[in-house]
Amino acid sequence: MQLWIFNETDDLKIFYYYIFAQIFNCTVMTERKVRVRFAPSPTGPLHMGGVRTALFNYLFARKHGGDFLLRIEDTDQTRYVPGAEQYIIESLKWCGIEIDEGIEQGGEFGPYRQSERKAMYRQYSDQLIESGNAYYAFDTPEELDAVRKQFEEKKETFTYNTATRGEMKNSLSLSADEVKQRIDAGEPYVVRFKMPVGEEVTENDLIRGNVTFKTELLDDKVLFKSDGMPTYHLANVVDDHLMQISHVIRGEEWLPSLPLHVLLYRALGWGETMPRFAHLPLILKPVGKGKLSKRDGDKMGFPVFPLLWNDPKTGDTSRGYREDGYFPEAFINMMALLGWNPGTEQEIFSMEELIEAFSLERVTKSGSRFDPEKTKWFNHQYMHAKANAEVAELFLPMLAEKGIEAEAAFVEKVVGMVKERAVFVADLWDQSYFFFQAPTEYDAKTVKKRWKEGVAEKMSEIAEFMKGIENWDAAPMKEQFSEFVTSKEWGFGVIMNAFRLCIVGAGAGPDLFDICEMIGKEDAIARIENGVKNIKRG
Ligand code: GLU
Repeated sequence: MQLWIFNETDDLKIFYYYIFAQIFNCTVMTERKVRVRFAPSPTGPLHMGGVRTALFNYLFARKHGGDFLLRIEDTDQTRYVPGAEQYIIESLKWCGIEIDEGIEQGGEFGPYRQSERKAMYRQYSDQLIESGNAYYAFDTPEELDAVRKQFEEKKETFTYNTATRGEMKNSLSLSADEVKQRIDAGEPYVVRFKMPVGEEVTENDLIRGNVTFKTELLDDKVLFKSDGMPTYHLANVVDDHLMQISHVIRGEEWLPSLPLHVLLYRALGWGETMPRFAHLPLILKPVGKGKLSKRDGDKMGFPVFPLLWNDPKTGDTSRGYREDGYFPEAFINMMALLGWNPGTEQEIFSMEELIEAFSLERVTKSGSRFDPEKTKWFNHQYMHAKANAEVAELFLPMLAEKGIEAEAAFVEKVVGMVKERAVFVADLWDQSYFFFQAPTEYDAKTVKKRWKEGVAEKMSEIAEFMKGIENWDAAPMKEQFSEFVTSKEWGFGVIMNAFRLCIVGAGAGPDLFDICEMIGKEDAIARIENGVKNIKRG
């Protein structure tokens, strides 16, 4: 057994570890560099669950001063989707997850795309056959289908395992000569793992604690395919070993593969340096139980992918958080709290703060429910916290698209006045259009409710009065305006509502005198005069 000591600086603790190791006859392993990998298969766009796996790996690597690798697991050529690899890379970039080694960065342990490592795997498959841990199987897909059918007729499920392997066409059931003949004749074959009988495999998962599997419930998985490619299981274990991965942090759906992987490490003689494992909990649907799926997103109107995705096969488009207007920091902050918690009330975390606070011990075992409303809340928080200049920079191109040319400084001021009411940058327009253009129409409901009998005449008088106001700053303007309305003994509320209709065209918005100051005297008075002329009670 091994006892790993990572990043421990307390001498007394280290001393105790050594004593413990002596007593329990463990080998003490120190100074193993933390090296983790995100190992997606390019079979489509990266789902939120994948982003979370990448994020937790990244946080763990950074926290321990380790390396974060991106390895593309493309051994299953039939599932390869063009563009998926680039999508993965772009998604990680957008999220601020930096790759240390990978297909673009290179590194000592490359290549980082499994299809380019093809030549490396066969020797390990051969080694497993030689050591009696794997065998050749010649069953054709048709033969396998036929056996499956026979079992189905008996209402049973066929499993290629210790109970059935003797009846199948493989190097365990056939004579050595026949096996040789078949191979020499170029007959296609696969290599299967020979699952041991009656064993229990126990492994300590860093999130779940000890997990135990009985080998008799497991099947003889294919390790090497007839197309000359390894399967996921073999390639994954070989690469994690060769790339000196210290921790495998991946989704819960891979937990059933754990016993096979552990047995493969042992069979290949790598048991001593096998990585530690951590299986992350599922991300659950917003309502009730079950794994979050794309369909939930479509049904409830939220993205499940980081970026927009155009499927090259179906032509379907799936929305993305980026294109929906989420800030990457908000998206990442929300994702980090799906299955992990800091143990405090703190909810807003920058990437640096996440790195500082992250630990696998605080990752939950049970699934975590995804809440699309909470994601909006995060975006709103980030919108609020962002500098006005930064938001203005994002808003300016949207204004340009509407044919509005505005000074950056002016837009910055506008942003400061309305961003409180916006979740997304795109919401800013609805909250601020009146800073950039005079209303051309007036909200009918508000007119009906707020444009009282006789108010038009009063607004005319107000326009005249306002022409005389010299200091057009909001505060003195407001004072003079109020004095005038009071001296006239007009109801202040009625006048303010009518005034707002003239300036904004609707019933809401920031302080009217602030708006007037921003748009300038001439424009403000023109808007009142226009209102008087054009607002008609229906
Ligand atoms: N290629 C696997 C996937 O697509 C990787 C699983 C693992 O991390 O071991 O998720």
